[in-house]
Amino acid sequence: MDDLAANLKRVLMQISNSARKAGSSPDEIELVAISKTHDAEKVHAVYEAGQVLFGESRVQEARAKIPELPSAIRWHFVGHLQKNKIRQALPLFELIHSVDSFALAKEINRIADEDGMHPRVLLEVNVAGEGSKFGFKPETVRAEMESLLALPRLSIEGLMIIPPLAEEAEASRTFFVQLRELRDALEKEFDLKLPRLSMGMTNDFTVAIEEGATLVRVGTAIFGERQRPKRK
Ligand SMILES: *Cc1c(COP(=O)(O)O)cnc(C)c1O
Repeated sequence: MDDLAANLKRVLMQISNSARKAGSSPDEIELVAISKTHDAEKVHAVYEAGQVLFGESRVQEARAKIPELPSAIRWHFVGHLQKNKIRQALPLFELIHSVDSFALAKEINRIADEDGMHPRVLLEVNVAGEGSKFGFKPETVRAEMESLLALPRLSIEGLMIIPPLAEEAEASRTFFVQLRELRDALEKEFDLKLPRLSMGMTNDFTVAIEEGATLVRVGTAIFGERQRPKRK
């Protein structure tokens, strides 16, 4: 398990180097260690090495894993949230990065109201306009912002992006810049604060930090390659 601690240390070092390069403080950037597909034992080893914040992308997997691990661990949800999993997800996760439609936001608000919760969320934006991806289009998020802000249970704290897969980290930069600019425009137009930008994964998190990320979601660089899910 030594390599996990070494991996974590290297990622934290890269974060602080990129932050310095961007003129921001490393303390302003949170590392979310994405533990999907990795078992509780591996998560525990990374926790022992000092990491407290982890992210999962499937409610079912998280529900099985979280009770096996120390309660001091904080969990974020980063995957596509199915409406029938909202009630299970709300008590498990302190932040949902991936609210990807108004219909989902409305349903989270309804269930949070029933269950007496006040979920913190980010809006996932599909800046590149890829048809196959979940997320608000930049135009729709603008048009729906009033309605989103009228959902009393939701605390909307920022934006999230998953850019198109690319070999080169630099290919993501234009999307990170667009997300930050959209954030700035929304803050101005709606007179609000959206301080959190969730952007950057193993391949491109250093570029994301240079462009203003406050949350980076890193899996492979910490845990190693994921097994491909078995076909049924
Ligand atoms: C899996 C996943 C990550 C982590 O990806 P890596 O390339 O392994 O760092 C980040 N964000 C989301 C939404 C994911 O599903």
